[in-house]
Amino acid sequence: MLTNFHTHTRRCLHAFGTEEDYVQEAVIKGVKKLGFSDHGPFPDHDFGLRMPFAELNDYLKEIERLKVVYQGKIQLYKGLEIEYHPRYREYYRQLLTEFGLDYLALGEHQFTAKDGTVKNIFFAQSTEDYLEYADAVCEGMRTGYFQFVAHPDLMFLNNLAPDENTLLACERILDCAAETHTVLEYNANGFRRERKCYPEGLRYPYPYAPFWEMVRERKLPVIVGADCHSPQQVCDFTFLDAISRAQETGLYLVNDIFEMTNRD
Ligand SMILES: [Zn+2]
Ligand SMILES: [Zn+2]
Repeated sequence: MLTNFHTHTRRCLHAFGTEEDYVQEAVIKGVKKLGFSDHGPFPDHDFGLRMPFAELNDYLKEIERLKVVYQGKIQLYKGLEIEYHPRYREYYRQLLTEFGLDYLALGEHQFTAKDGTVKNIFFAQSTEDYLEYADAVCEGMRTGYFQFVAHPDLMFLNNLAPDENTLLACERILDCAAETHTVLEYNANGFRRERKCYPEGLRYPYPYAPFWEMVRERKLPVIVGADCHSPQQVCDFTFLDAISRAQETGLYLVNDIFEMTNRD
């Protein structure tokens, strides 16, 4: 069964298409479950590249409307991809209760470091930052508010040589995912980025093969996410190819982030 729980819309200001454009494409491609996970706003702070807080209600209302219009054709879910920062714990709770979201995906593009500053994992200064990123991701998982971790291996887009910190960061994330029963996402969007020359050789920034080898060894549940930023990417070649690659790696793939059913 084809499913995708990682879908952006034009509301985040760097993706294209309305909610309905994504639903129509998903129906055409035979996707049975589609979860919207646009970049979630924070009420008092704009970290950039995300939907404005003022759009949140319209976004949720529109998905509700589409749920009715496309009933019987596809199952839709209201989610957000959002960073975990400790000071927003109450906000995550509100999103899942008062705002009525079906799920949150932990997309830790930025994280709160130990010294309280906000760091961006796209610009890690050293592999020490990987450890802080891993600790922030783990703290997020332990809140129980996040249904899955989007691109947990995002740190590997940095051009830094692997060392003991990189291994330790992976172990911390995987130990915590096991302990909290959080699904990890094998993110197709990494394959849409350019292959680059890293210290280990030519590769995509992520998914990072050694990380997923460790996931396989631990038999942790994995969902493949399209991370589509345009309607054509809902179920394109890259997404289907990512599913094949995940299968070839021997990952324990699930179809759904709510029930751990084997991918069929
Ligand atoms: Zn993301
Ligand atoms: Zn995303």
